[in-house]
Amino acid sequence: MRPSNERVYWKTSEETLPRPELEALQLARLKQTAARVYERVPLYRQKFEQAKVKPNDILSLADLRRLPFTTGADLRESYPTGMLAVPLDETLRLHTSSGTTGKPKALFFSAKDVDNAAELIARSFVATGMNRGDIFQNMMTYGLFTGALVAHYGAEKIGCLVIPAGPGNSERQLLLMQDFRSTSIHLTPSFALYFADVLEKRGINPRKDLSLKRAFVGAEPYTEETRRKIEQGLGVRVFNSYGLSEMNGPGVAFECQAQNGMHLWEDYFLMEIINPETGEVLPVGEPGELVLTTLLREAMPILRYRTRDITAIREEPCSCGRTHRRIERITGRADDMLIVRGVNIYPQQIERVLMSIPKLGRNYLIQLDGLDEMTVKVELSEAGFDGELEHVVALQKEIASLLKAEILTTPRIDLVPPGTLPISEGKAKRVIDNRKL
Ligand code: AMP
Ligand code: ZN
Repeated sequence: MRPSNERVYWKTSEETLPRPELEALQLARLKQTAARVYERVPLYRQKFEQAKVKPNDILSLADLRRLPFTTGADLRESYPTGMLAVPLDETLRLHTSSGTTGKPKALFFSAKDVDNAAELIARSFVATGMNRGDIFQNMMTYGLFTGALVAHYGAEKIGCLVIPAGPGNSERQLLLMQDFRSTSIHLTPSFALYFADVLEKRGINPRKDLSLKRAFVGAEPYTEETRRKIEQGLGVRVFNSYGLSEMNGPGVAFECQAQNGMHLWEDYFLMEIINPETGEVLPVGEPGELVLTTLLREAMPILRYRTRDITAIREEPCSCGRTHRRIERITGRADDMLIVRGVNIYPQQIERVLMSIPKLGRNYLIQLDGLDEMTVKVELSEAGFDGELEHVVALQKEIASLLKAEILTTPRIDLVPPGTLPISEGKAKRVIDNRKL
């Protein structure tokens, strides 16, 4: 038995810092960051000049609003090294963001940045109850993507045995899980749903046959309904994990055991919510686009980064005692919004409906063709459905009317046998938009 050293917090004083002290720390770090990029990154010097602002103008946290935004396009245009604030030989690691369009974004880490990223994920994991003695099977993609590596070093910091399984190969995953009694896993929601199917097919009862306690699930948006499906299918508690490569990868915001939103680690990041169309900063509690500023980054500090992710800030205190405020589950990306027959639709709205119908399986695909014709392809569940024509038609009708109530348009419903839609090990591609081709 590995020694277990139950911690409630990873670093108590950092996580429970009283708000006034936390805010004073944020201000000091913001000033340093602004001065650093102004001195060292020509793109920021230019942006500051355009905005007619100098680092010395920052006197309070409210002055953050005077600073310029940074966008994904800025990062792409300064690829490969244009945003570096240190000489290249002071960097230790390179990641790229899994961008879908054009040039990738290159993200550099100094030694301190690598360590800070591991600190934040260690802090996040401990907040869910993971501790020394837990066995961590990391089912995210290793490589240029931040997801696996950052989590890997965080779990090692805690003192867990780390199994760098990577995604895919369900047979081997299962073998490792059984033989080494993995207690904690880290994977995307789409792979988690697929893996739940695999267990079901093998007749494995995860609560009896496996030692899993918790799954860290993130890297793409998913709904509460999907969380419940994963929890049932894998016999775990699912903790929502939010991050993006531009801000280290995982460990930006994480659910604690109270599971009422994700604590965003405010000693490391400043958060704002803006109206994605106008850029106006919105009052706390209102949903909008999350904007993040790094406070401790050395190699590549980023000011007011427009994440495109839609969420809202929660500021009521959390029962866990952490003083860092929380964000709500990401409801989608501003870029994911589909306009179908004049109606704005987020794929998450469709997912929520599909995952709440027991007769349906865990995989689906949204396809758009021609003049706004929408087809929702969804797998039937292995156990729950006999496939008789009469029942299929009734089920199609039920789904169409539930979807109509949610998205105000009636898509075609294509019910397919379990295991027939493409599976994804990493981030799933849920929408095929043939209209743009
Ligand atoms: P990447 O830079 O490749 O790690 O992708 C980061 C993006 O993945 C974020 O900007 C979000 O759009 C998405 N993402 C990551 N974690 C979550 C999560 N827990 N819920 C919803 N979306 C997420
Ligand atoms: Zn909490």
